[in-house]
Amino acid sequence: MNSVLITGCNRGLGLGLVKAFMRLPEPPQHLFTTCRNVEQATELTELAKQHPNIHILQIDLKNYDGYEQLVEQISATTKDAGLNLLFNNAGISPKSVRLGATKLQDLQHTLETNTVAPIMLAKACLPLLKKAALANEQQCMGVKRAAIINMSSILGSIEANVEGAMYAYRASKAALNAATKSMSIDLREQKIMCVSLHPGWVRTDMGGNNAPLDVPTSTTQIVDTVCKMGASHNGGFYQYDGKQLPW
Ligand code: NDP
Repeated sequence: MNSVLITGCNRGLGLGLVKAFMRLPEPPQHLFTTCRNVEQATELTELAKQHPNIHILQIDLKNYDGYEQLVEQISATTKDAGLNLLFNNAGISPKSVRLGATKLQDLQHTLETNTVAPIMLAKACLPLLKKAALANEQQCMGVKRAAIINMSSILGSIEANVEGAMYAYRASKAALNAATKSMSIDLREQKIMCVSLHPGWVRTDMGGNNAPLDVPTSTTQIVDTVCKMGASHNGGFYQYDGKQLPW
């Protein structure tokens, strides 16, 4: 794998994914990581000092105007090799409330961050992904060629929803899943793999202290699973260990 872009890498699963990719026997030649505030991303900055293949790009993903510059920065480094993997990880989850307490602002903010931003970033990265797909024509569908992984959640599964509530978060991830499916169809011709992934319930700021999985367990398995995925996974919804999930 030549290059990977992961969003939201200053903490939680994003930071864990960076470490998991670096633990691979052959880490990506270029690991582009995003965060909103580099000065506060101390652990990520420390990692980047130790590993010159880690690049830190500062962006608030709700600033769509910044995507062009982000793509230019990646393109200037990877040139004709493009981008092999876009990992849309950054996300938010407002407090879980029932319908009567649902706030318009939470709905708008969450849909923008969890759905609009990953779709628009995938659109912005498309030329880079297509370049990678072309440069790795001999490779089968998968991350060695070109792929988009959208970090979803089992809470976005309509079939698995038995508890209700969480309008903003559930709707944002269900919509992201719908987008994954469309991407997988639109990009099938270029053999760019598109998958929705549930990381498990993980102990992060979002997952809370009661979650059963720790970050290294989830992210190590995610990277292992993602590296093994191929054409049969395109347009599907899976969890960290490769188990298929219901839409
Ligand atoms: P955290 O809350 O620990 O981290 C979220 C990350 O997203 C942070 O880096 C945060 O940056 C970033 N982020 C949020 N909004 C923006 C924005 N507008 N622009 C740029 N970056 C942004 O969450 P997790 O690590 O737990 O979650 C990562 C992903 O996994 C999310 O998509 C989440 O929905 C999903 N997920 C997590 C589960 C869990 O149990 N933890 C379960 C299912 C899914 P900043 O520090 O600047 O806020």
